[in-house]
Amino acid sequence: MESGRDDIISLMLDKFGRTISYLRVSVTDRCDFRCTYCMAEDMEFLPKADLLTLEELETLCVAFIRQGVRKLRLTGGEPLMRRDVMWLIERLGTRIGHGLEELTLTTNGSQLTKYAAGLAAAGVKRINVSLDTLDEQKFATITRWGRLPQVLAGLEAAQAAGLKVKINTVALKGINEDEFDRLIAWCGAQNFDLCLIETMPMGEVTHRAENHLPLASVRARLAEHWTLTSTDYATGGPARYVTVRETGQRLGFITPLSHNFCEACNRVRLTCTGRLYMCLGQEDSADLRAPLRAGADDAALAAAIHDAIAAKPKGHDFVITRPATFRHMSVTGG
Ligand code: SAM
Ligand code: SF4
Repeated sequence: MESGRDDIISLMLDKFGRTISYLRVSVTDRCDFRCTYCMAEDMEFLPKADLLTLEELETLCVAFIRQGVRKLRLTGGEPLMRRDVMWLIERLGTRIGHGLEELTLTTNGSQLTKYAAGLAAAGVKRINVSLDTLDEQKFATITRWGRLPQVLAGLEAAQAAGLKVKINTVALKGINEDEFDRLIAWCGAQNFDLCLIETMPMGEVTHRAENHLPLASVRARLAEHWTLTSTDYATGGPARYVTVRETGQRLGFITPLSHNFCEACNRVRLTCTGRLYMCLGQEDSADLRAPLRAGADDAALAAAIHDAIAAKPKGHDFVITRPATFRHMSVTGG
C-alpha cells in the first residue's frame, strides 16, 4: 500500500455545509433472497458487463478514503453473494488506520457461516444483519427464498468470530408487528442491538403502502412493556436510539417518512456500476465509471467526486404511496 498519502485528511463538504465522511457501496445488485418489500419476485438484474470489477471498486473506495471518507459499509443486494468479495474486503481492511476508521457491512446473514471468521480477520468489527422475524414460516414468506436456520447459524458464526451484531428489522404492518417484544428480548439475550426500520418507497413492489407501519406508534406501544431511555448515541445516520433498560441493549428507530433525517446526512452511495447517488431518495447521480475507465488520475477522480458531492440534494421527499425512485433499494444499497 502506498502509505503517507492516505493519512492526508481531506474534507468533502456539500453546499449545505454537511461533511460527507461515510460511503456505502453496493457491491452487487443480486441477492439470494427476494424480500417482498425490497424486490419484485421476477427482478431483472444489471448485466454483468456493466459491473465494476473488484479492482475498480477498490480504486474508487480508496479515492473516497483519500477525500475524507472515514466509514465504509459494503452492502447490496447481498454483498456476500458477489464472487470473490473477500478479496475486496481484505484489500479495504488494509486501509483501516490509514484514513479509514471503520469497515463494515450489511448482510442478510445467509453466507456468514462461510465468511464471518474472514471478515473479522480482515478488520471488520461490527456488522448489520437483516432479520424481520424469528418465525420460520414467516421468514420464508417475507424473504421468499430465504431460510431462517441458515441465518441463525450465520449469526452464531458471527458471534464466534467476535463480530458485534446489530439486527435490522423492517417493521411490517400485520406481518411482524406482533413480534417486536420477542425480538427485543431475543436481541437482549444474544447481546445484539436492534434497529427497527420503516419501509421506504424505492422501486415497484406490491403491497408496500398497506404494509407500512409508522414507528412513532410502535415506540409508544413498546414503552408500555420496556423502559426506553433516550440516549445521545448517534452514528451520524438516520437512526434515533434508546437504551432498553431491561436488556441493556440499544434499540434504534429509522423513520424516514414520519421523521425526516436529511439535515445531518453524512453519506453517499456508490453502486456496483460506479454510479454515485448523493441521496437514497432522489435520482441525482454521477457516473464515476466513465472517468475511471477513461484513465482518470487521482486528481481527476478526486475532482469528479467533489463535483458530485457539491450537487448533493437537500433531502428526500418520500411519500409511501408512490416510489420515490425507479431503482430498488438493492441497487442503491440500503
Ligand atoms: N442484502 C442485505 C440485507 O438484506 O441486509 C443488504 C442490502 S438490503 C437492501 C439493506 C437493508 O435495506 C436491509 O436491512 C433491508 O431490510 C432494507 N430494505 C430493503 N428494501 C427496503 C425498503 N424498501 N424500505 C426499507 N428498508 C429496506
Ligand atoms: Fe436481498 Fe437484502 Fe433486498 Fe432482502 S433486503 S431482497 S436480503 S437485498
